[in-house]
Amino acid sequence: MHAQSIEYETVAENATPDVSPVLYVLPSPSVDDPPAEPVRADASAPLLRPDDLGVTRGDGIFETINAVGGRPQALEAHLARLQRSAAMLELPAPALDMWRRAVQHAVAAHPPVPELLLKLVMTRGVEGSGRCSGWVVAFPNSDFSRERAEGIAVLTLDRGYPADVMTTAPWLLQGAKTLSYALNMAALRHVRALGADDAVFVSSDGQVLEGPNSTIVAKLGHRFVTPPNDLGILAGTSQARLFEWAQRRGMSAAYDRLTVDDLHRADTLWVCSSGRQAVPVRSLDGVPRTWDADLHAAALAHLLTA
Ligand code: PLP
Repeated sequence: MHAQSIEYETVAENATPDVSPVLYVLPSPSVDDPPAEPVRADASAPLLRPDDLGVTRGDGIFETINAVGGRPQALEAHLARLQRSAAMLELPAPALDMWRRAVQHAVAAHPPVPELLLKLVMTRGVEGSGRCSGWVVAFPNSDFSRERAEGIAVLTLDRGYPADVMTTAPWLLQGAKTLSYALNMAALRHVRALGADDAVFVSSDGQVLEGPNSTIVAKLGHRFVTPPNDLGILAGTSQARLFEWAQRRGMSAAYDRLTVDDLHRADTLWVCSSGRQAVPVRSLDGVPRTWDADLHAAALAHLLTA
């Protein structure tokens, strides 16, 4: 398989046809590299060697940031998560100032679009080279206005391991945002074949975890709840922004364990991710759900402007 096809499938799926992606390559993705500024590169030309470990083993990390009206959201939180993921994979520490500048350059170079997705990718690099590969690609976000307004159908899926897997099997890298997303994509294909839009993983001992590319937030009374990160799930930046908003409005927000019954009891259930921000769940395992439409509209308006 040619390395390039992976990146371009992703880009093509999301891009509006007449806007080309903007690519910045980092000659110095890690603090171990001699410092050199990010450089603009042709996004339609080959980028990686076929023996890059990011391609041959999915050995690397990534972040997806949404820039709304030209402003990258939660940039520092994404960079901090990139750093944590690198540490979990024992990759060299990312040179965060280079990544920050590459993001800023990519936003500045891209024609204005309402929402711009920025994908930051750092791989272990060419086998044996000891040098990581890193790049930032920017492309228009998909139009999620329908999902944001009308909600999505979600199915629960067994994740196949218990909730304490992060301590009993740390080599599974739960909680790191690695390039090994084939199983996340398989889960999405599985639920889509069943007519749903998205999935939420549940541990083999009944704890709600996260979606294949999202965080789940339940509102139970006046309390916003999301599962704790020590269940081996990613610390979501969109969920964190939703929590900040809720807390500023005097509501409580907590990291707490949830069961599927809790999800059914919730008065509003959201799937949160940088691309979609917050979309309400309109059915869970085939059971129709309602949500607090005013609250959702206010939360979404905040997420899209803050
Ligand atoms: N959990 C997983 C597994 C993800 O892949 C993502 C985002 O891609 C999230 C949660 C949500 O994270 P964020 O809101 O920072 O995009």
